[in-house]
Amino acid sequence: MPNRPETANAQDTRFLYELNAAFDRAAHDDDIRVIILAVNGKHFSSGHDLSEKDWHAARHDYPTIGSMCGFMCAGADAQMAREEEIYLGFSERWRNIPQPTIAAVQGKCIAGGLVLVWPCDLIIATADARFTDPTVSFGVGGVEFFNHLREVGVRKAKEILVTSDALSAQNARALGMVNQTVPRAQLGEAPLVMARKIAPKSRFAHKLAKKAIQGAQDARGPDVATQNAFHLHQLAHAHWLKLIRFSDGSDRSAGGDSHSIEDQT
Ligand code: ZN
Repeated sequence: MPNRPETANAQDTRFLYELNAAFDRAAHDDDIRVIILAVNGKHFSSGHDLSEKDWHAARHDYPTIGSMCGFMCAGADAQMAREEEIYLGFSERWRNIPQPTIAAVQGKCIAGGLVLVWPCDLIIATADARFTDPTVSFGVGGVEFFNHLREVGVRKAKEILVTSDALSAQNARALGMVNQTVPRAQLGEAPLVMARKIAPKSRFAHKLAKKAIQGAQDARGPDVATQNAFHLHQLAHAHWLKLIRFSDGSDRSAGGDSHSIEDQT
């Protein structure tokens, strides 16, 4: 997969399209029985790259996967279309890859980092790994792939969102979000040990087992919940963009207090 360790693997548009292409190649290769998502560097991911300004240029190197507009549409439509594709859309595609997927996580995994690991079937983390969704601190109510309840339950989901506190690897394991915690020196080998147990078994049985489990999850209605959370997320973007636009106080018709947060979570 693409690596940007110099930025703590901040995810820009190119990074996400290349990661999606790597997942596609693996999913289409009948000889690949297990997929491991791992990155180089001290931290797994610092989240979405907030410094990226000219994402249109990178986007034109790749075909749009979804059926929304081409990201050049007006106003909130463009922001929503982009996030439907590269955040929510890619995560849902990766969740439905037929082969078992394993995420290997070290260091900090922040906001958009969760959007990479939550679609994976298994998560192996170093003992010093920390998982954080600080988006409420930026004025947004959670990342685009809103999987918090399914991963840690209602009470903990509310706690980590309203406090922006990090979830330790040990607590994440106790809550069922992480399968294994290992010393950092073993993060390279541990997913391979797991993969060697998985690989000899039937590829088709893996696909069916994943469909059975995810079908049970989806029967509880998470698609509706995820879409609802995503639309609230888009409302937050539109809200802050409107306040930023009028932050010089020249037009109070925008409503609310002026705000300087530049949000692209
Ligand atoms: Zn967003």
